[in-house]
Amino acid sequence: MAGVARVIVVGAGLGGLAAAARLAASGHDVTVCEQAGTVGGKLGWYERDGFAFDTGPSLLTWPDQLRRLFAATGAPLGASLDLRPVAPTDHRFTDGSRLHLTDDLGPGWRRLLDRARRIWDATEGPFLSRPLHGPRTLAQLAARPGGLRDVATIAPGTSLRALARAHLDDPRHVALVDRMATYTGSDPRRAPAALASVLHLELTGGSWYTPGGLRRVVDAVADRARERGVRVLTQTRVEEVLVHAGRAAGVRLAGGRRLPADVVVVNADAAALYGVRTPPGQHPLLPAATATAPTRGARAGLAATTPSLSGFVLLLALRGRTPDLAHHTVLFPPLDGAGYDDEFDAVFGSGRRRGRPSAVPEPAVYVSAPDDPALRPDDGSEAWFVLVNAPRHAPHDVRAGVDWRAPGFAEAYADHVLAVMARRGLDVRDRVLWRQVRTPADLEVATGAVGGSIYGSSSNGARAAFLRPANRSGVPGLLLVGGSSHPGGGIPLVLASAAIAAGLVGPV
Ligand SMILES: Cc1cc2nc3c(=O)[nH]c(=O)nc-3n(C[C@H](O)[C@H](O)[C@H](O)COP(=O)(O)OP(=O)(O)OC[C@H]3O[C@@H](n4cnc5c(N)ncnc54)[C@H](O)[C@@H]3O)c2cc1C
Repeated sequence: MAGVARVIVVGAGLGGLAAAARLAASGHDVTVCEQAGTVGGKLGWYERDGFAFDTGPSLLTWPDQLRRLFAATGAPLGASLDLRPVAPTDHRFTDGSRLHLTDDLGPGWRRLLDRARRIWDATEGPFLSRPLHGPRTLAQLAARPGGLRDVATIAPGTSLRALARAHLDDPRHVALVDRMATYTGSDPRRAPAALASVLHLELTGGSWYTPGGLRRVVDAVADRARERGVRVLTQTRVEEVLVHAGRAAGVRLAGGRRLPADVVVVNADAAALYGVRTPPGQHPLLPAATATAPTRGARAGLAATTPSLSGFVLLLALRGRTPDLAHHTVLFPPLDGAGYDDEFDAVFGSGRRRGRPSAVPEPAVYVSAPDDPALRPDDGSEAWFVLVNAPRHAPHDVRAGVDWRAPGFAEAYADHVLAVMARRGLDVRDRVLWRQVRTPADLEVATGAVGGSIYGSSSNGARAAFLRPANRSGVPGLLLVGGSSHPGGGIPLVLASAAIAAGLVGPV
C-alpha cells in the first residue's frame, strides 16, 4: 500500500495485536477495537483468592514465531518475556504406563518422526508462511523444483491416523499421534497426514512457559503494539465492516459511531465475519448485501468445513501438593473397545453418534499444573487447569452441537470429569477448595468464537486447509487474521497469520 494507511483491527486477540504491532512498525496508523474489557481473547486469565490460571493456552511451541514478531517490531523477545523450556508432556495410560514424545519408541516411531520432519520441511515455507491461494496452493507446491516429491511426502489424501498406523503397532503410540490432530481442533481419522508436523514441532522445538503464565505472552504483544503507537480501544464492539464502492471503508461500532479506514483487519472469528454457523439473529460483520463473488466463495468454503472442536475447562484450586506431577499431563482413555475414537465420535457427531454430538463419556483429560509460585497462595496449594475436548455449543442445532447451558449439565459434567481423573490415578476430589467451570458457551460469549470452536474450522478432510478462510477476503482492503483464518489456530500459527496479513498491506 503506498502511503500511510488508516488501519482498523477488529479484535485484540493475539493475531489482531501482532498484526497491529507489525503494521504500526511499518509506519501505518493503527487502531484496535476490542469488544471485551481487556485484550487477549482466548489467551484468558482468571484470578481469585490468591490462585491464578491461564484459561486458554498452556502449551507454547515454536517460539521462533514470537521471536520473529519482536525482532520485526523493535527490541528482541528476551527484553519482554522470560521463556523457559518445560519437561515433555507426561502421557499416562490406563495400564499404568507413561510415555513422552522424546522416548525412543522403536524403529517405526523413528521412521515416523523422520517423515514428520520431511513434512515440516515441505510445508513450513510454502504453506504456513504465505497467503493461501485455495487448491491452487498444492499445484503451486508441486510445480516447484522437488515439488512432486514434497507432495508425495505430504500425502494429501492420507489421514494422520493412516500415517500413524502405517508406522506403529502399539495403540498407545498411535494415540500419541492422534493427539496431535486435536491441537488443531481436528479428528485424526479425517485430518491429513501433514499434521504429523505438529509432532515434529513439539519434539524439536520443545514446549515453553513464561513465569506468571502464558497470558504474559499476549500482554507483551499488546505492550509492543502500544509502544509502536497502536491505539487499543477496549469495550469497543464492532457491529459491521463498512464497504463503499467495493472497498473496505471502516467499521460501525455498537452505538452507531463510524470509524473510517483504508484497511480493516478482522481478528474476530471468520465465521462471525461471514455469517456462517452463527446463531439465529446474529448478523454477520460483513453484511451479505455487500458480498462480492470472492466473499461468496469464502462463505461457501467455510460452510463446507467441519468446525473445530471446543473445550470444557475446569479451573481447580487445590489444597496440598501432588507428588510426581509434570507441568503437562495427559490421561488417556482405555484404548480397548471404542478407545480414543469414542471421543472423536462424541465431539464431531460421527460413527455411532452420527449427527448427535455429546459430552465425551471417557475423554482424554489434559492437566496443566505449572510449578509457579505466581499462580497459587504461599501455603502449599496448587492451581490446575483441566481441559477436555468438547463438542461446540449449538443449542439451535442439535445435530451439530450441544446445549452447554442446559440446567445442571455443565456442573454434572465437571463432576464426571473429576471422577474420570480419579479412576485414572489423579483423585483430587477431596482437595478441591473451589472450582470454576468454563464451557464452550462461555468461550463463545467471552471471545465471539462461534459455538466456542477453539480453532475456527478443523482440519478434517483433505481439502480443509484450502477451505479455511484466506487472509485476503476478496473485498479490497478487508483482511483476516487469527486462528480462524489461514494458516490456522494455536499461538504459533496465529502469529504466522499476523505476519502474512501485515505483509499483504505492505510498508508505507
Ligand atoms: C481452552 C483453550 C486452550 C488452548 N490451548 C492452546 C495451547 O495449549 N497452545 C496454543 O498454542 N493454543 C491454544 N489455544 C488456542 C489459542 O488460544 C488461539 O488459537 C489464539 O489465542 C487465537 O488468537 P486469535 O488471534 O485468533 O484471536 P482470539 O483469541 O480469538 O481473539 C479474537 C478477539 O476478537 C474480539 N472480538 C470478537 N468479535 C468482536 C467484535 N465484533 N468487535 C470487537 N472485538 C471483537 C474478541 O473479544 C477477542 O478478543 C487454546 C485456546 C483455548 C480456548
